[in-house]
Amino acid sequence: MLNFIDVILPIPLPNFFTYSITIAEADFLKPGMRVSVPFGKSKIYTALVHEIHSRPPVLYEAKEIHQILDDKPLITEKQFDLWKWLASYYMCTLGDVMRAALPNAFILESETIIYRNTSLTINDSELEDDEFMVYEALHHQSSLTIQDITSIIDKKNALPVIKRLLEKEVILVKEEVYAKYKPKLVRYVRLDKRYAADQKLNELLESLSRAPKQRQVIMTLFSISAKSKSPIKVSELIEESDASSAIIKSLIDKHILEEHFIQTDRIEYDDDSETPNLKLSEDQNNTLNDIVQKFDNQDVVLLHGVTSSGKTEIYIKLIQSVLNKNKQALYLLPEIALTTQLVQRLQDYFGEKVAVYHSKYSSNERVEVWKQVLQNSTKAQVIIGARSAVLLPFQDLGLVIVDEEHEQSYKQFDPAPRYHARDTAIVLANIFKIKTLLGSATPSLESYYNVQQGKYGMVELNTRYNDVLMPDIELVDLKDKHKRKRMKGHFSDRLIAEMTDTLKNGFQIILFQNRRGFSPIVECQTCGHSPQCPNCDVSLTYHQYRDQLRCHYCGFNTIMMKSCEACETSNLDTKGFGTQQVEKEVSDLFPDYKVARMDLDTTRGKYGYEKIIDAFQHGEVDILVGTQMLTKGLDFRNVKLVGVMNADNMLNFPDFRAHERSFQLLLQVSGRAGRTKERGKVLIQTYNPFHKILQQVSTNNYLEMYHEQMDDRHNFKYLPIYRLIKITLKHRDYNKVNTGADWFAKSLRNVFKQGVLGPEFPPISRIRNQYHKNILVKIPKTQSLPKTKEAIIKINNSFSSVKDFRAIRVVLNVDNY
Ligand code: ADP
Ligand code: ZN
Repeated sequence: MLNFIDVILPIPLPNFFTYSITIAEADFLKPGMRVSVPFGKSKIYTALVHEIHSRPPVLYEAKEIHQILDDKPLITEKQFDLWKWLASYYMCTLGDVMRAALPNAFILESETIIYRNTSLTINDSELEDDEFMVYEALHHQSSLTIQDITSIIDKKNALPVIKRLLEKEVILVKEEVYAKYKPKLVRYVRLDKRYAADQKLNELLESLSRAPKQRQVIMTLFSISAKSKSPIKVSELIEESDASSAIIKSLIDKHILEEHFIQTDRIEYDDDSETPNLKLSEDQNNTLNDIVQKFDNQDVVLLHGVTSSGKTEIYIKLIQSVLNKNKQALYLLPEIALTTQLVQRLQDYFGEKVAVYHSKYSSNERVEVWKQVLQNSTKAQVIIGARSAVLLPFQDLGLVIVDEEHEQSYKQFDPAPRYHARDTAIVLANIFKIKTLLGSATPSLESYYNVQQGKYGMVELNTRYNDVLMPDIELVDLKDKHKRKRMKGHFSDRLIAEMTDTLKNGFQIILFQNRRGFSPIVECQTCGHSPQCPNCDVSLTYHQYRDQLRCHYCGFNTIMMKSCEACETSNLDTKGFGTQQVEKEVSDLFPDYKVARMDLDTTRGKYGYEKIIDAFQHGEVDILVGTQMLTKGLDFRNVKLVGVMNADNMLNFPDFRAHERSFQLLLQVSGRAGRTKERGKVLIQTYNPFHKILQQVSTNNYLEMYHEQMDDRHNFKYLPIYRLIKITLKHRDYNKVNTGADWFAKSLRNVFKQGVLGPEFPPISRIRNQYHKNILVKIPKTQSLPKTKEAIIKINNSFSSVKDFRAIRVVLNVDNY
């Protein structure tokens, strides 16, 4: 009997691919193991076994596999189920899903670039001959592709050798390497143990009698430790004993003092912070019980709890009960909220059992978490992660929590699979027959709608923890302030007054401006021309720091011009304002206080936003200026005032969710104010204080917002009343995209009639030299979603069989919001 395997290749092939295997291999192989296979003329790939069978392929002759790479499956049966759902729901291939799910180091292929791990000293004798040959080659060249390596060692063995070298950490797979963030360490000192006995101590003081300054330091150390049992900071010791740090250092060098470092956490639940003993408030407790009760007959429950109501603590209790049953818990968060803040908070409770998984981790770190989850290791019982954590190989999942479920960043836009992690999480939970908890202070309309429809249960928590009042929100009318000349730059007199007051009382301030860069666009006051990106058909933005014009899409940049390119007058002006300008104005208004900025530009570096969050948390910064990054579940204790510089630009954003999103953003950013004890204050500056959304924000009226927005969604046929699939065509030739899009839209109209919108060029119609054109398919509840997708796929297939259109890229985006 002949033996075959169907495999998934990490490329967008519509189907499985079949290879032949020997009987022995058939005995050994199981679905979910990786094999190395030849593909096409010369390529090699890591492929995942899906099925072992005896049906030869009809259309081609099956090639033999090269090697088996694993001795145990790397992915589980349940994962396959989820992958198949993803591929079919989001209209992509299993290869797309495979690539998104597996860490890079698991997917070796001809193009994979490897290099030597220089941080490790390798003992040559520990390497086998073929391993050594690769290692040796990497001494002559800094990096090699796997293709290159097949000329050194036999092709069939290339991937297994690479895999072994990776496991020995002799080599690394090339990727963007992010250093892991190290939380801030504080330096402490104590007396060396040798001086514990009184006699030794006396001898010490005796011996220091001729070094009075050093003696003084030791005496001060005693008097501080007599007052309090907590460890003694070096800074404290220096201050109290009036010594220099050189004196402390010499004491350390002489081994009289011993230095040690303690990680400083924001959370000091109690002073000798051992494992904190979490006690829920009465409201939290009732909420917890309600959730558990609702789970009896609902698979998904939405926790609608105001900002700072202590949702995290409720999650912790739920996770604890899952761990008690020896099951795994998945806790999803938007990437940005995954800072040390939250990780620390959870590690305080669950210690070693917490594993973190997100895109800033290196492939090696991700491989480690993957293996721990797969082995159901005690080190990965609580998995906190962003979007992609939903794709981990869970063994015995007991609960899924999706925090900040309204967050837009749960949706992956590029590349495929264009999945929504919240919705995928619910499907994952179904596969495990377990429950999902969604949490938010500002639920998405679609989740709230699902509650109204009875699909989800809901529990509300309307009080903040510790009975802190919700912040007082005040709208400031900019038109009026301008008219009465009460503005300084972009700051109204009200905002300046509140800021002055807040700073005087030692509190911190957050200023929110939903835009980055200095003045975004440059405009000629004479002819109206503004400089454009030559590749993207979008205005360039001005960056003061480098005196540069930059494209936010492709990174094109040029020096800021002195005169207009079009009319040559020097009447250039910057319009609008971004975070950078706010930062500058604040520094001018409050020169004695420290200002920092948090946006894409300032958080790009290695430690990204953690650095800024850390500095703000430790009070090194008084005023933090930022974009929506500031809104995502951050918990600062000392912020009393939040200022929104301009609410209008987000309300006017050209998107059907702009109002819903503005409501969410504004309430979330307001929620950063006054989270402990003192009531917070929020000032929202706007030209349109009577805008309904702003009224609803200022009265925290979610329900009114919901009903009003739902009316619009009904009228304009949008989510969640209608479902949407966006089809984008891309090509560098403008005319080609046009004719292609017309053809595609026409074919769709034949089937879906008025359900088709477009084709339309998006506001930015050229990105990286490619023209984009969009078609939107609106699908009413009464129309079958699977059938709709089938029809679209059929049209897409005919489309790509037209010779003229073959080069046009078609992107299908299901639920494109
Ligand atoms: P949310 O996620 O709902 O915005 P958090 O969970 O961040 O709120 O809680 C707000 C603040 O209150 C946090 O600083 C948190 O540590 C504190 N807190 C909430 N519940 C408790 C509790 N039961 N015991 C101690 N502190 C709590
Ligand atoms: Zn560009």
